[in-house]
This record gives sequence, structure tokens and C-alpha cells, in this order.
Amino acid sequence: MTLIVQKFGGTSVGSIERIQAVASKIARFHRDGHQIVVTVSAMSGETNRLIALSQELQDRVSSRELDVLVSTGEQVTIALLCMAIEALGLKSRSYTGGQVPIITDSAFGKARIERIEPSNIKKDLDLGRVVVVAGFQGVDSEGNITTLGRGGSDTTAVALAATLKADECQIYTDVDGVYTTDPRIVMEARLLPEITFEEMLEMASQGSKVLQIRAVEFAGKYGVPLRVKSSFNEGEGTLITLEGQKDMEKPMVSGIAFNRDEAKLTIRGIPDQPGVAAKVLGPISDANIDIDVIVQNVAKDNSATITFTVNRSELESAAEILSVIANDLGAEEIIADSKIAKVSIVGAGMKSHAGVATRMFECLASEGINIQLITTSEIKIAVVIEERYLELAVRALHAKYGLEASY
Ligand code: ADP
Ligand code: ASP
Ligand code: MG
Repeated sequence: MTLIVQKFGGTSVGSIERIQAVASKIARFHRDGHQIVVTVSAMSGETNRLIALSQELQDRVSSRELDVLVSTGEQVTIALLCMAIEALGLKSRSYTGGQVPIITDSAFGKARIERIEPSNIKKDLDLGRVVVVAGFQGVDSEGNITTLGRGGSDTTAVALAATLKADECQIYTDVDGVYTTDPRIVMEARLLPEITFEEMLEMASQGSKVLQIRAVEFAGKYGVPLRVKSSFNEGEGTLITLEGQKDMEKPMVSGIAFNRDEAKLTIRGIPDQPGVAAKVLGPISDANIDIDVIVQNVAKDNSATITFTVNRSELESAAEILSVIANDLGAEEIIADSKIAKVSIVGAGMKSHAGVATRMFECLASEGINIQLITTSEIKIAVVIEERYLELAVRALHAKYGLEASY
């Protein structure tokens, strides 16, 4: 008997009809003799609706209460899905994160899963029940409700699959799998039958929200067989593979990712001395604000400028901390810019091909797009540009690297 963990995203459970369709899909797997653990997101739009409600009450929302609030979205869908499964004559039981329990740290809004206690789920599976677990949520060691960050239900699914040693983790979503880029932006995007973990990790970390990055990290670390599929269409979807072809045989660029969720902060006119970068960036990291791209320049007068990006939702907090640092260091000015976007080309084949970056920069230049920041890894080149050029940049690069579907 095989054990499959299945995750259904917001659109897949966006209405009663869709929940019934998901229940029928689950019932088919169950009747084929598989044990099934399901994790679901909130109905589409619900998490955003709840966040908007909280923002009507507080400028800076209390992070503990926000987690209490947004976790309710998934509590609705687990109950409705169990009802739909039972209506088909199967046995089913729902669990909130705290009931499993899924133990996390206490970083509200971006908690990390520390461990999952699997005994309740195992007992239910032995009794022939379909187990339905709320995605995106957990509980910390003091019993506080926590959430795992936007898109966190993917991570719930993979963590469950790792803990239960599932035979496969299937992420069902509203597209047919992982494409060369977001098919909603580039119509010619091509479905990838396979992608390696390291490429998927870069795609996710650079903004392809088809999988949350922590889900990919977990799957790589614990060797969870992971597949992204459509909840609406049949098909094999995309398998995230541990071993791929040799780098030499890989296309130079496999995909294009982008991210509009970042903002840029610049601090100008600070002393060019050892330790200054730590003085500027240390307090920001200490406040648990993730810093992405960092660039430091030195001007003719020997003063330094540091530019870095953070998540847009944390721009205000980061800017406040930075202004205290600016005072201490006697900085000339701080500039905040939220109208930026990051575009990345990703491909394991880059390791063995030269000139990839030059082609990217030439392509953007020919479209008149100015590059503000550049950052690279072995299998990725990312640039920060003005947000209004984002879609143009993605389409141009997709064509430049010949990623289109051949009809
Ligand atoms: P779910 O609610 O099922 O978790 P998400 O909206 O989080 O769905 O993720 C699926 C979406 O990810 C797709 O609808 C698509 O617009 C977007 N996406 C971004 N990049 C890609 C990509 N490379 N391949 C497939 N989908 C992508
Ligand atoms: N409902 C949460 C969100 O919208 C978690 C998820 O969908 O994975 O981000
Ligand atoms: Mg998602």
C-alpha cells in the first residue's frame, strides 16, 4: 500500500463545487488502495481578505493576532473538505496545525516547522480514514498559533510527506505544473516535465510562487519525491528530480523567475571603514528582516554607499531601523524605493557555459531597460529593474533564450 500526501491550493478549493471535485479525486485514489493525507489552503482570496480586515484596525498589525486571524481560512476548508469526502461514503478526519500537532518556532507570519508528531495521523490512516490537515499553520511550544508565510501550505505538505515517509507528495494547483516562466505573463511558456531540485530552489527563491521555497528546501533535504500537477486537468505535471542530466547537456537557461515583492533601501555618505556593512545590516537582520540583494560602492571622496533589498511589507520597519543607524554613522541620506522588481534567469547549464550574463544584459539594453543591481549564483543571474518594465523584461528574456513552446 502506498502513502500519498496531496496538497490542494486556494483556487482548487475556491468554491463548494471545487471542493466536491477535490473530494472525488481523493476518493478515486483511496479506492485504488492508497492511503491519503491531504493538506489544503484557504479558499482563494480568503487570506488576502483577512489581512485587509486587520489593516483597517492597525497600521502595523499585531503579528500574533494576525496569525490567529489568517489561520482561520484553512480551518474552514479542512472542515468543508472532510464533509465532502464523507458525503462520498468515505471516512475522514480534519486537523488544525495545533491538533496534529505541527510544532514550529515562534516567528509569527514566517514560522519554521521544527517537528510533526505523526501518531494521530497514523492511527487514522490505519482506521482507513482520509486525513485532512490545515496547511500554512502550526503551533509554537507555548501553544500560540503560528503561520508559515504566504504559500506555506506547500511546506506543510512536504513536511508531512517527510515525516510520514510518504511515497509521493503531490502539489495540485491551478496550472499544469512548473513552466519555463509564469504562464500568466508569457503565453508561450512551456511546461517542464522535470526540473532539478537546485533549479526549482532558485526559481522559488527568485519569486516563482508555484512552490514555496521552504517546501523545496524540505523536499531536497529529506529526499521527498515531489510533483506539481493540475487539480483541473489530467497529466503528469512536473517532477522535481534529485538527479538530472549532466550539466553539460542541460539548456543554458531553464526558466525565468520574477518578484515584485521587494523594495530597495540606500544609505549614502557613510564612512568606508571595516565593519561598516555589519553596522548597517546587522540591526536589520537582528530584527528578523530578510535582506536579499546587497551592493556596496565607494565614491571618489571615499564615502561608501550601501544598497540592499527587503520584502516590501518590511520596508517601513527596515527604514526606521536604518534611520537610527544613519544618525549614528552621520550618513548623508537614506533613499527608499518600492517601485522595483527583480528578474532572474535560472539554469543548471550555466555552470558550463560562458557568456550567459552578457546575453542577458544585452537583451535588457536592447529593450531600453536600465539595470539597477545585479546578483549571481552558480545557476542564476538576477537583476533589479524598475517595476514598470518587469513584464517586458520577462517576455524579452524568455524569447532570447528560446524557451517558447514549439506548437
Ligand atoms: P496555489 O493556490 O495552488 O498554491 P499559487 O497561486 O500559489 O497556487 O501558485 C500557482 C501560480 O504560480 C500559477 O497560477 C502561476 O501564475 C504562478 N507561477 C509563477 N511562476 C510559475 C512557473 N514557473 N510555473 C508555473 N506557475 C508559475
Ligand atoms: N492561504 C495561505 C496563503 O494564501 C497559504 C497558502 O495558500 O499556501 O498564502
Ligand atoms: Mg501557493
